[in-house]
Amino acid sequence: MASSDPRATLLELRDTLTEQLATLTARPEPGSGIGFGKRVGDSTSIAVERITDVAKQETLLTKLNETERALAKLDDGTYGSCDVCSERIGAERLDFRPYATRCVRHAV
Ligand SMILES: [Zn+2]
Repeated sequence: MASSDPRATLLELRDTLTEQLATLTARPEPGSGIGFGKRVGDSTSIAVERITDVAKQETLLTKLNETERALAKLDDGTYGSCDVCSERIGAERLDFRPYATRCVRHAV
């Protein structure tokens, strides 16, 4: 189970998130394609896609930050305790979100 070795789970998660972020940010900026014969009307779908990408990127970044924080907590021995109130984060919650650094009450 994830809870038996959270460090391995978190390191793997960090790799996955970093990779996903790299893929997202590697996309060419819309608008840079002027002169490449883009059809009018493409711009709207590209814009929508771009907004979705930005939202996705923010979610990934937040998750990555939490993962980094959870790894730091493993190092200082506070993993599994809430950053705010130091209460135990439930094992069930950690199974579901191994990168959780706060209890349900203080979840962002
Ligand atoms: Zn708390």
